Amino acid sequence: MTEKIKALTKKQLETLKNKLLEEKESLVFNEVKTEGLDLTLINGGDDVEQSISDYNNSHQLRFRNREVFYAKKIEKALKKFETNEFGLCSECGCWIRFERLLARPTAEMCIICKEESERDESSSFVGRQSKSLGKVVDLTGMLA
Ligand SMILES: [Zn+2]
Repeated sequence: MTEKIKALTKKQLETLKNKLLEEKESLVFNEVKTEGLDLTLINGGDDVEQSISDYNNSHQLRFRNREVFYAKKIEKALKKFETNEFGLCSECGCWIRFERLLARPTAEMCIICKEESERDESSSFVGRQSKSLGKVVDLTGMLA
């Protein structure tokens, strides 16, 4: 099951870093744009405009929270370049495939660990079930 994955080349790392920087820039651009929009709406004055501005603000806030969350992930990924940890799985320490990182440059786990962590969540339920099944078997054994 343990498939050897080659370390990322310098060129691949550079590609991924540029991708992250591009994503980061597009987020910053959005932030500046929405902030400008906020100001004009708040300065608008009367009640109707105020409620529209409230609606827009809450809408934008939700959108921005998502952006801030993503920006943090990008920031975290970029920091890993400084410590030469980028591309390494946070679980097992093996290399994450270049193709996976290209699709999701903020990925922190290799696909095997990611799948395993997802399976753990569902298998804990199965585990509990089979344990209670074992008790049922024990009981019938005692009755016989
Ligand atoms: Zn892993």
